[in-house]
Amino acid sequence: MTKIVNHWIGGRTVDGASGTYGPVTNPATGEVTTQVAFASVEEVDAAVAAAQQAYLTWGQSSLAQRTSILFRFRALLDAHRDELARLITAEHGKVHSDALGEVARGLEIVDLACGITVQLKGELSTQVASRVDVAAIRQPLGVVAGITPFNFPAMVPMWMFPIAIACGNTFVLKPSEKDPSASVRLAGLLAEAGLPDGVFNVVHGDRTAVDRLLEHPDVKAVSFVGSTPIARYIHTTAAANGKRVQALGGAKNHMLVLPDADLDAAADAAVSAAYGSAGERCMAVSAVVAVGGIGDTLVEKIRERAEKIVIGPGDDPSSEMGPLITKAHRDKVASYVTGAAAEGAEVVLDGTGFTVEGREDGHWIGISLLDKVPTSAKAYQDEIFGPVLCVLRARTYEEGVALINASPFGNGTAIFTRDGGAARRFQLEVEAGMVGVNVPIPVPVGYHSFGGWKDSLFGDHHVYGNDGTHFYTRGKVVTTRWPDPSETPAGVDLGFPRNH
Ligand code: NAD
Repeated sequence: MTKIVNHWIGGRTVDGASGTYGPVTNPATGEVTTQVAFASVEEVDAAVAAAQQAYLTWGQSSLAQRTSILFRFRALLDAHRDELARLITAEHGKVHSDALGEVARGLEIVDLACGITVQLKGELSTQVASRVDVAAIRQPLGVVAGITPFNFPAMVPMWMFPIAIACGNTFVLKPSEKDPSASVRLAGLLAEAGLPDGVFNVVHGDRTAVDRLLEHPDVKAVSFVGSTPIARYIHTTAAANGKRVQALGGAKNHMLVLPDADLDAAADAAVSAAYGSAGERCMAVSAVVAVGGIGDTLVEKIRERAEKIVIGPGDDPSSEMGPLITKAHRDKVASYVTGAAAEGAEVVLDGTGFTVEGREDGHWIGISLLDKVPTSAKAYQDEIFGPVLCVLRARTYEEGVALINASPFGNGTAIFTRDGGAARRFQLEVEAGMVGVNVPIPVPVGYHSFGGWKDSLFGDHHVYGNDGTHFYTRGKVVTTRWPDPSETPAGVDLGFPRNH
């Protein structure tokens, strides 16, 4: 029997009244296993209304109440890691260990939210003028929305909602329609932890649901993570409707390898970061820039390692890499490899013919490695989002950095070197939001913020860390004067208030 995934509104699952459903596929078999309800405008309105109603009390709740629920949620999340990871693998395709890793990184943000008391401490200046004190406080916004991508169905929502609700907001999540089950399970765990009905809601669907969230007058802020064209659209539309917005987009992450680097360590890092999760990570390394004369040796070391990767179903413990999310995406990824030679690249490994015996309908693709890729090639310019690594050559450090900085994307980047001076220069000169020094995937820990530059992020705030707290609260400054009862009133003064 086909499983049905419904919305979660007001603390319970709600059938898709619109009658529209979308298919969810197991990428390892190609089989449609689930139908997910697609929300109509009225269903989105019902979720926002539930969140707005819940905000009346949640927005006034004490920090102690909120954090005690988050601590219980953390314990439940910890206990259900394996179950969540299995849900993710069944709909996304990534291998179980990778799915467990995503849950663990989401849990880090819940850790941060459990300590929101420290982040929300205000500031106080006493006696700024005679008997005058000034306090700066931060307050929640109201109903906030999150729109999230397929590639991290548990982690990316957890970049957002733990902090949003810890700050006193209520939340409406529109997860990816391609792998919706994890979000509803998270909603169930939040309810079990004691979260009041309506504080966290999930509506599934497509552009209809997204557009309603973008225009709904009761939605005060929108957090988005997904591809660059949609991120740009979300940013423009939400801002035009007067909402606070952060929209994280796509990426093309470069790894610069200097001639003095440990080339074995660099090759290990490049292979792990390029092909992990089949390249469907916004922080995947998709371009290696080899500096000086190391190109041929480095490519050979990458090839040796990449050829050994075991590809298979995500629920098979021997698999290191799973299938891609959809058949259409698999075919698009393959087209970059097929067209690469005509664009001037050398195809070192071509994974387009790969399949898994007995599971030929799965969305399989093997490992591809392209060398000497010209910057004009589509395989270099586009975010492929698959297991395809491009290697480019640069004569000098300066040429390598200029190449990276010419990319329209600026999510993550890394340098591999033994030269501290060069690494320091790179940190300051490279145009990207997250930089690794001998670290290929520099995803910041929960108490630092995550976000890119240029076409990888539209808006002023990164997600989580201090930026997350700032995004989900607004500042208020209170100036107080308690006159001394024995004082003679100063009388009317039409001059501009001065401090003295
Ligand atoms: P996507 O942009 O297709 O979809 C993201 C969300 O937007 C989904 O919920 C989807 O339903 C919705 N959506 C899709 N088309 C829409 C439209 N026309 N109008 C309104 N809403 C729409 O992204 P995806 O394929 O799910 O995810 C992969 C992309 O996400 C990659 O580009 C990847 O780099 C990016 N990503 C970025 C980060 C980051 O932190 N910068 C993290 C993860 C993923």
